[in-house]
Amino acid sequence: LSSQPAPIRRDRTTRTSISAAMCKGDASSERAKKVERRQSRPVGEFGGNWGCLGWIFFIPTCIWYLYGCMVMHQGRLAVPDGRFWYDLYYTLPEGLAIRPTAKSLAAIALWVVFQAAAEIFVPARIDEGVVLKNGNRLKYPMNGLKCFFLSHAVCYALCWLGLLSPYFIWSNMGALLTGGVIVATLLAIWMYIDFGILWWRHVDDPEFEEDWGVFKYSEMINDFWLGVARNPRLFHRWLKVPFDLKRFWNARPGLTLWVIANQSYLAAMYFGCHVVEGQPQCSEAGDWSRVSLGATMVAIAQWYYIFDYNWNEPAYLTTTDIRHDLFGWMLTYGDFGFLCWYYSFAFCGYVSFLERPLTDNHLQFVLGTGIYIFGMWLFLVTNIQKHQFRTYIAEGGDLAEYKVWGKPVEYIRTEEGSYLLTSGWWSFARHFNYIGDLTMCLGWALACSGPGHVFPWIPLSYCVYFWMMDIHRMFRDENRCRAKYGKDWQKYEALVPWRLMPNVF
Ligand code: NDP
Repeated sequence: LSSQPAPIRRDRTTRTSISAAMCKGDASSERAKKVERRQSRPVGEFGGNWGCLGWIFFIPTCIWYLYGCMVMHQGRLAVPDGRFWYDLYYTLPEGLAIRPTAKSLAAIALWVVFQAAAEIFVPARIDEGVVLKNGNRLKYPMNGLKCFFLSHAVCYALCWLGLLSPYFIWSNMGALLTGGVIVATLLAIWMYIDFGILWWRHVDDPEFEEDWGVFKYSEMINDFWLGVARNPRLFHRWLKVPFDLKRFWNARPGLTLWVIANQSYLAAMYFGCHVVEGQPQCSEAGDWSRVSLGATMVAIAQWYYIFDYNWNEPAYLTTTDIRHDLFGWMLTYGDFGFLCWYYSFAFCGYVSFLERPLTDNHLQFVLGTGIYIFGMWLFLVTNIQKHQFRTYIAEGGDLAEYKVWGKPVEYIRTEEGSYLLTSGWWSFARHFNYIGDLTMCLGWALACSGPGHVFPWIPLSYCVYFWMMDIHRMFRDENRCRAKYGKDWQKYEALVPWRLMPNVF
């Protein structure tokens, strides 16, 4: 880190003159002409144009399908024929059907605006991220935890005042799911146009990088999917810390909504919500005996995951998401068209739509909880070990003094300047930190199954998806590191030969 180039700071004078030039219609301003630009984004990942186009249609279709199996077939797999899609779109009542509704779109808009306002206005400590390719370090407000609790307080207050139904998500999930796809797609189109085609509008922003807008229209779908800018930001003139669209979208509206949606599904169980003769019906009086322990454990586990994420908010600034991923459809959809809805309905939602309350699966519940606790512990200790090591170096610590598991730390100092940890958990495998996550979801799926209940296809679909996503992410990360570190990565592979699990893979 110490060998990174000195930050390039651009002053406001330059920004003003460029903006003025742009305003005068001088789009090819001298500054925009001089700025160094070079294609250094990945091209061809995810199958190039055709692959990305396929994913853009395939993934939402799969999620709608699983949702349909849950709502119309109580979790049983069904043949996705014309009748299935017709019923899912037209026959189900408004809200449960996947037709978008004005109410669902308004709810989404309100939620996103509220989350953005909270990020901007709730007092925050300001932290700096890692050094970008252009040498700059961006600032981020660290008020995630406050916003997380504020979001809960507002939702609970609205329910208490009778302005919001506690099972709102349960009874509007279909429309919300489609609303999420619409919003995510609009956001990705905006990113492609504003930060790609109109890249020159941003040349003076500290986050501008050499590859913004360097693309060919022949690779348009690939670029739309992956994104064309890494850390697009807004409101540079008005905010001391400009509003970072990717960090916001990745960290706030979707993640918080995920755990609040889980609570809405628990409320649906509590009020005994069911679809009776095609209409959603919930009792006036609640009953705790209807609430599944397995689903409650998953809701608490996922809540803790997001709480912990907000608690350790600065750690997020060093992850692949922030440092390397571009902000395209993959993330706009992944965060708000997919994650918050699918992650919540795959477990808690699924249980709330079962024919009988899932309250008789004590063995599965105990085993599932044990597996989850083990996975969570592993996830925390592995990721924190690397984070502490890198933070220690970034803060100028002396590695001769640094210990891991009571022994002097082992590491590789790369020519590029970064350090690769090779002791502790990081001596077992190069991505041992993925094992915790991969394990946790198996515990959740087990806890949401039970004797005499339907086979847990939908919870397991999450495990399949998550394993594929995390392992694919691991390969992408390895390719990037191989290119970045060259000989040093080979040295690392020789020292830590296993990718994921010692003696297995
Ligand atoms: P990592 O936290 O593993 O970060 C990878 C980066 O860390 C590399 O690109 C490299 O970056 C650096 N690095 C690699 N090896 C070392 C080392 N030995 N010592 C120091 N630095 C190293 O990856 P992710 O961000 O993908 O995953 C973090 C966690 O989040 C994982 O546990 C994963 O399972 C989880 N996750 C969960 C998701 C979910 O939806 N629940 C989604 C995605 C991830 P550099 O260029 O700095 O060297």
